[in-house]
Amino acid sequence: MTDTNPFGGFSLTIVEDVAPATSGPSPITNLAGPVQASVVIIGSGPAGLTAAIYAARADLGPVVIAGAEPGGQLMLTSDVENFPGFPEGIQGPDLMAAMRAQAERFGTRLVDADVERVDLSARPFRIWARGTEYQARSVIVATGASAMWLGLESETRLRGRGVSACATCDGFFFKDREIAVVGGGDTAIEEATYLTRFASKVHLLHRRDTFRASKIMVERARAHPKIQIHVNIAIEEVLGDQKVDGLRLRDTISGEERTMPIDGLFIAIGHKPNTAAFRDWLEVDEKGYLVVHDETGSTVEGVFIAGDVHDHRYRQAITAAADGCKAAIDAERWLEAQGVTEAATATAR
Ligand code: NAP
Repeated sequence: MTDTNPFGGFSLTIVEDVAPATSGPSPITNLAGPVQASVVIIGSGPAGLTAAIYAARADLGPVVIAGAEPGGQLMLTSDVENFPGFPEGIQGPDLMAAMRAQAERFGTRLVDADVERVDLSARPFRIWARGTEYQARSVIVATGASAMWLGLESETRLRGRGVSACATCDGFFFKDREIAVVGGGDTAIEEATYLTRFASKVHLLHRRDTFRASKIMVERARAHPKIQIHVNIAIEEVLGDQKVDGLRLRDTISGEERTMPIDGLFIAIGHKPNTAAFRDWLEVDEKGYLVVHDETGSTVEGVFIAGDVHDHRYRQAITAAADGCKAAIDAERWLEAQGVTEAATATAR
């Protein structure tokens, strides 16, 4: 980054830069025929990778279709202070790299590609990703949820030019700048706090005057000398031509408008579940999340569900990991009941 072109060209998708793939089995690419596996796990956040660790240790030879941006939401998180086992906390990308290495250690094969489509109408289930077909005796869906955007034209136009949904990825570019974070949940507070490492000042903008974020985090933000909290504020427009230089704001009580000069805007307003490939096959609720039956089951026998793709209540790394564990155990027991006892059969033809 230079002073003449301070924000041009920075990337919002630097997952591989944050946590390079660990050593382990090579990714599966360009194989001649379908890849067959007892278990195909779709998604590589805490749910998917925990499922992989359990399935691999059960000798099921899992294949994880990890997504083009593997690692899930923790790749976009800085300090994780509430994952047991790390008394000093751990960086989100470091935690995911460790989970991935642990899954690979037991023989999990990971494919860093997005699932294009699935066919769950008959067994083996069929999954296509980056031109390769996978045939699975059982499937664990652990595709998680993705960040939401405000939906403003100006926000889309200035994405990568000062608008970001990832403080960990892009905070560095705002050294000694004044920036804003929008949202009133734990993510917004966490991002605002993290960004104080770089920014000279962080404005936290929330559309109401009560927060969804936990009290302790709000109090920490209130006490932080670099954070200024603004409540009952909506963003009407992100201002700037080639890069962000301000916001047009509206007071949600009085309707009064004003502008706020800032160099960057971080969106932290929640998430939506990644269910596009499954909506034709699996039950979804009114918010678009997958519906589970009997802990990890779905409406299709042999297809299991884990993590944030169904859970809009807890949405924690630890609960997603627990879900992944349960889904792998359920898949293993289901396969056993199907007579698939010699399960380590992930083979490429
Ligand atoms: P969230 O709790 O759903 O909060 C989203 C916030 O964004 C809400 O304050 C909401 O406002 C606001 N918002 C939504 N749409 C908006 C829009 N169009 N314009 C302006 N504001 C908008 O989401 P989250 O903060 O991402 O947290 C999700 C879950 O992860 C929670 O369970 C949270 O506890 C957890 N989490 C935990 C940690 C941690 O413990 N370290 C860190 C991050 C997240 P309203 O309040 O008005 O609806």
